[in-house]
Amino acid sequence: MTRPEHTMEPDHEVYRTLLESTKAIPWKIDWETLTFSYIGPQIEALLGWSPESWVGIDDWAERMHPDDRERVVNFCVAQSKAGADHEADYRALTRDGDYVWIRDVVHVMRDADGRVDSLVGFMFDISERKASEEKLLRLQQELEDLSLRDGLTGVANRRMFDSILEVEWANAKRHGQPISLVMLDIDYFKQYNDEYGHLAGDDCLKAVARVLESSGARAGDLLARFGGEEFLLLLPNTDETAAHAVADRCRQLILDQRILHATSPIGPHLSASFGVATAIPTDAMDALELLETADCHLYRAKDGGRNCVHSLA
Ligand code: GH3
Ligand code: MG
Ligand code: MG
Repeated sequence: MTRPEHTMEPDHEVYRTLLESTKAIPWKIDWETLTFSYIGPQIEALLGWSPESWVGIDDWAERMHPDDRERVVNFCVAQSKAGADHEADYRALTRDGDYVWIRDVVHVMRDADGRVDSLVGFMFDISERKASEEKLLRLQQELEDLSLRDGLTGVANRRMFDSILEVEWANAKRHGQPISLVMLDIDYFKQYNDEYGHLAGDDCLKAVARVLESSGARAGDLLARFGGEEFLLLLPNTDETAAHAVADRCRQLILDQRILHATSPIGPHLSASFGVATAIPTDAMDALELLETADCHLYRAKDGGRNCVHSLA
């Protein structure tokens, strides 16, 4: 019995079947004429353009998102000229006018003399990967945003305040400018909660945050929730007199809201006390000193009867 002869080389048909049944779309471009000598029929299922409609590299370039075109075409042409294999991600235009994210993986083929003869490659549909990458990025941004904001009032939280204080402190030191900090604490807030409930207390904190936000802050000013019913206003390039005036305006604005606080010994409406600190930073000083001084003045304001501003000014 003679055994059938097998050759270990797959024939042309085997290659074609394999190439045209994969999800990746194979193609070949003749380098001299810059025309497609082959593109897998799968391209039609993905983008809607028939294989015959892919004639030259202009068809490839034109069926690319305008925002990607220049970058990708320049990159691929330069890499091909240099004889370097490469890959590029871009949005390919579908016949319906939509876009699909594609990764084109390109191999540079050379003739016997080593000259670039053709480009062969695969196009991969990476839209799912791109969508999940974008979602991840969005989530990361959201997380970053959430981790720097106070959940109740939406203003900066302590973490954000600390980062910005460090930057502004260094700025003030470099420019020899004053930097001020206003610390405020709502008066008899425990009684407010006791009288109206914790949820009403939360609403009250949100209202105070809105008032402070609208108090006419300058571009570089930062409002942060320090914790509980305490807020901070960081005022770069502001001296003690100006900072005191800002604090007093905020104090008046809070009072003007006429938020009922029937059990406050101060009066019928919600009020707050303010401590102000100012420094022209030097190497011998620490940004935390500003916080400590503001806290100390706040304590004096409380001690001095509340609903007032205390500073050195
Ligand atoms: P003082 O005038 O001396 O500042 O008196 P106070 O009652 O405001 O001060 P104290 O620090 O004793 O009380 C602060 C209160 O703030 C107690 C706490 O329950 C309340 N508080 C802190 N954080 C929140 C919050 O997120 N929501 C609500 N509703 N209350 C809060
Ligand atoms: Mg407090
Ligand atoms: Mg308080």
